[in-house]
Amino acid sequence: MDIRIGNGYDVHALAEGLPLWLGGLKIESPVGCIAHSDGDVAIHALCDAILGALALGDIGKHFPDNSDEFKGIDSKILLRRVMKLVRERGWEVSNADITIALQRPKLAPYIISMRECLAEVMGISSDRVSVKATTTEKLGFVGRGEGCEVYAVVLVNRL
Ligand code: MG
Repeated sequence: MDIRIGNGYDVHALAEGLPLWLGGLKIESPVGCIAHSDGDVAIHALCDAILGALALGDIGKHFPDNSDEFKGIDSKILLRRVMKLVRERGWEVSNADITIALQRPKLAPYIISMRECLAEVMGISSDRVSVKATTTEKLGFVGRGEGCEVYAVVLVNRL
């Protein structure tokens, strides 16, 4: 069995009045991520984990944040492209586990829909996609509501 593991991490600063996209969904929120793309920090960490598993660099290398092509882009498009790279090389994502650290708003009502959305984009079943959310108990930049932080781990296997 040929398997590989990948780890991804991303942070975006939050600001009032911006849309908050997480896990492919628009979240009801007074704050959103400052970003060149739609700022879906969960998808960015997931993409980096997948790319990392296959040593294909990172999201910034594939989708530069100084390129007009990616300005305001729906991050689901980036994830779809990353999955294409994976399959072209003969690999498949076995599972993904994502942890979102955000002080507010509460993400619990969105978790199942995020899993379903990400699974659909990735072309795998939703029982292979875990999304978890935590606050940081008001500690650090996440706790102060200044940013959103995401960790992702994926396992890939050769087809
Ligand atoms: Mg990012």
